[in-house]
Amino acid sequence: MLPPVLFTPGPVVLDGATLRDGAEPMIYHRTPEFSACVRHCEELLKAALGAHGEERIAIITGSGTAAMEACVLNLFAAGERVLVVNGGDFGQRFVEIAALHDLHVTEIKLAPGQSLTASHLAPHRRGGFRGLLINHHETSTGTLYDLSLVASFCRDEALLLIVDAIGSFLADPLSMSELGLDALIVSSQKALALPPGLSFVALSARAQACVQSVPVRSFYLDLKRYLADATRGQTPFTPAVGLVRQLERRLERLHGGGVAAQIEAVRTRALDFRRKLSGLPFDLLTSTPSNAVTPLVPRGVAPARYVSALAAQGLFVCPNGGELRDRIFRVGHLGDLSSEDNTRLVDALRAIGQHYGLLGTSEE
Ligand SMILES: *Cc1c(COP(=O)(O)O)cnc(C)c1O
Repeated sequence: MLPPVLFTPGPVVLDGATLRDGAEPMIYHRTPEFSACVRHCEELLKAALGAHGEERIAIITGSGTAAMEACVLNLFAAGERVLVVNGGDFGQRFVEIAALHDLHVTEIKLAPGQSLTASHLAPHRRGGFRGLLINHHETSTGTLYDLSLVASFCRDEALLLIVDAIGSFLADPLSMSELGLDALIVSSQKALALPPGLSFVALSARAQACVQSVPVRSFYLDLKRYLADATRGQTPFTPAVGLVRQLERRLERLHGGGVAAQIEAVRTRALDFRRKLSGLPFDLLTSTPSNAVTPLVPRGVAPARYVSALAAQGLFVCPNGGELRDRIFRVGHLGDLSSEDNTRLVDALRAIGQHYGLLGTSEE
């Protein structure tokens, strides 16, 4: 029996070096050595995010949603108006977090898989908004949004721009300084290919000023504490120490090989998968897919049948919930996957299609 393979968009298959880093003995974190590690992580992460200016990074022990909530809490005061691009589960998550913390939310609602265009933004000019929140890659539908469009809108309108790049970081090109983003959110378990448990918020100089002035009704997620402690290479609370050490090593290797090369590897894998898929009974949900995920609309058989038949063979793809449950499933291209893994998955998909009589039984 071959080992199980995760074609899920997080957590992902970890490479051998990361597994070995995770097996090392625990260390104490209130030490100069660990402080040096945290500072190094911030420096390497900034470079990977294309943050070349005064940006600072808060390292949060908590999954990506903790970082999303931290941004909402620390950058906006109750009663302020925000725009949220909502094209799926993660856009909806921003809507719910913002509403919970008493912001006035106007949604830019997109259908699943629909691309964002200038015409979606135009009606919201001079709408009295303070900021805009968007997921660069709406991972629930595999749809990548055009950030340069959003960045220029926010520049014109003087809005704070908060980007959740959890699903796109290291899979699709992105540069914080070039786009002038105010907050950029990433997490450990997607293309960074570490175990789940850490999330990161990079803040522009302007966003750091907001953090100092907005009253925060949270103890754990008060970013003032994170920024203050980070100046001496520490975190306010006990971090996931082992993960931070794995992060430093992973970022060192990443910089050795280059961020652009890492993105290109994910892209190559995604294109290889999509090419091998031709002739099989699937449509793509979106015309602007991220390199991270391929969202498949099966013709003739319910998505759940593919998901469970694949899982029985140790191949894990990602089912959807809600309105998309009976329409799509997703295949991730992150982590330590190979072209042979793609072939194995496509062969399995073909066999399932044949089983349901959707293809001839002979090989092509
Ligand atoms: C994975 C993901 C998240 C974070 O989810 P967690 O389960 O909290 O880590 C948030 N936004 C996007 C776009 C994601 O892909």
